[in-house]
Amino acid sequence: MKLWVLGSGSSGNAVLLESGDSRVLIDAGFPQSVLAARLAAIDVTVESIHAIILTHEHLDHARGACASARKWGWSVHATRGTVRAWPELSVADVQTFDSNASFPVGAFSIQAVRISHDAAEPVAIVATDTATGVRAAVAYDVGSVTNSLRRALSRVDILVLEANHDEEMLRYGPYPPSVQQRIAGNRGHLSNLEAGELARDCAHRGMSYLALAHLSKECNHPGVAWATVRDHLAGARVATRLEVCTQHAVAGPFQAGRKVATEQLSLGF
Ligand SMILES: [Zn+2]
Ligand SMILES: [Zn+2]
Repeated sequence: MKLWVLGSGSSGNAVLLESGDSRVLIDAGFPQSVLAARLAAIDVTVESIHAIILTHEHLDHARGACASARKWGWSVHATRGTVRAWPELSVADVQTFDSNASFPVGAFSIQAVRISHDAAEPVAIVATDTATGVRAAVAYDVGSVTNSLRRALSRVDILVLEANHDEEMLRYGPYPPSVQQRIAGNRGHLSNLEAGELARDCAHRGMSYLALAHLSKECNHPGVAWATVRDHLAGARVATRLEVCTQHAVAGPFQAGRKVATEQLSLGF
């Protein structure tokens, strides 16, 4: 399985999964032209994608989804709450799923996991490559970590995880108190510290990549996010590669194959 983060942040999010000929997008928060350009940069044609799964209706995740799906023939999958909350979806041909459901899409078995966020019915996504058993997960826009989310992320090989803000940079940054409270609240976003704690809880020897995503432009810095999460992983004795995704560039491919027994492990960062 290969995974690319086509860009991540408050201005747009999209993740591409690939296994063999099967390509599935998670979110399309960019205009069509940007989405097409990001895919072209990794030699993927828009027509070769056959489905898109939406995590929730916020513009930075859903902006280009309907128009792109219509134009390029993608099937669209979203929770009922997301469909109700995003008017464009109600007129599109959408396949709905429950926020804790499992269902097949192309080469993947998709598990949705309900998360806490200020959207109608937001989910994290765990995708299992049915041919190899390799798992990838995308968990961003997470206000608070639940046991069900922790459990779902605990056996994945590739994890895209939100590290939205540094708590101090948020406190002393440009946002008014009401916005700070929304971001830091339990229906907002994960801080670097919270991401580090969750990563430490979920890290295991088979986790190949941990990609930090949805970093705030105003209240975070890639080096700060990386160092905070690295410190939490330091005691976990894993070989996970730690990467930071940005808003304006494609990150990846993050790749994992069939699991192999690994005896000699060291810190990979
Ligand atoms: Zn959101
Ligand atoms: Zn978002």
